[in-house]
Amino acid sequence: MRAQIRTFLSAVVVLGLLTPGAGAADKIRVVATITDLKALTEAVGGDLVEVDALARGNQNAHDLEVRPSLMVKVRRADLLVMNGLELDQWAEVVIQGANNPKVIPGAPGRVDASQGILVLEVPTTRVDRSMGDVHPVGNPHYTLDPGMAPAITGNILEGLARVAPQYRATFERNRQAFLGRLESAMAGWTTMMTPFKGARVIVDHNMWPYFLTRFGLLQANSVEERPGIPPTPGHLTKLIASMKEEHIKVILSAPWSDQKLAERIAQEAGAKVVSMASAVGAVKGADDYLGMIDYNVKAVAQALR
Ligand SMILES: [Zn+2]
Repeated sequence: MRAQIRTFLSAVVVLGLLTPGAGAADKIRVVATITDLKALTEAVGGDLVEVDALARGNQNAHDLEVRPSLMVKVRRADLLVMNGLELDQWAEVVIQGANNPKVIPGAPGRVDASQGILVLEVPTTRVDRSMGDVHPVGNPHYTLDPGMAPAITGNILEGLARVAPQYRATFERNRQAFLGRLESAMAGWTTMMTPFKGARVIVDHNMWPYFLTRFGLLQANSVEERPGIPPTPGHLTKLIASMKEEHIKVILSAPWSDQKLAERIAQEAGAKVVSMASAVGAVKGADDYLGMIDYNVKAVAQALR
């Protein structure tokens, strides 16, 4: 009997230790501008973080309406994770409105996830933003390439360790576990994409160069004449003609772009529209980072088959 009681008591003690003592109030509060960075922060922070995203997965992250509700989120943040490369430039207005010294430019509670990324499509001439081009400092959509996740999670880890240095070892362990899962998934994705090396596709918004480069695919053209600028009729005529001539059969499309236009082009050119997960949460089945990449790889492989 006594032994049973002792077993019971030690079980209580063990349970007490295992139950996270940290309630939501004790967690490190992180705000990420986009859902991809939310998902990657959760992968590194695990149970120690509570992460909010400012943009929803199915929104165009270039073009977010700055609302007071976003400022409220940033006001209580310990850490802010930004995409950088001017994708989430609107966040600066949110940060000003939030009046939170922890995340102002230069503060330790701020992460630019693009640090150390080899940026593609950096303009060689000055791009005037007044012309409407939304990629004035190069292509900002690097999170769509799973090969960038080690660098991105490295930046996030450093940011988390700046605001909560006592948990650095846990963050490092979480990150390594995540990168392990990524590595085995990557092997599968590479195998799945190998038969389509060199295949050419059309995109609606120019957001796939990192993803396509990773898997050896080529972007032949885009529906938008320049990033963020709707196509002219002349551009569409040329686009459709070149798709027919070069037998390009696939248009990669983001859920927030003009679906009707993509369908019309596909119909005229004899191609099909592939709905892509333009971010984590953009479509059903793309609920975390690895799930999002997996969704896109399978969608593209199936369309090219
Ligand atoms: Zn873009």
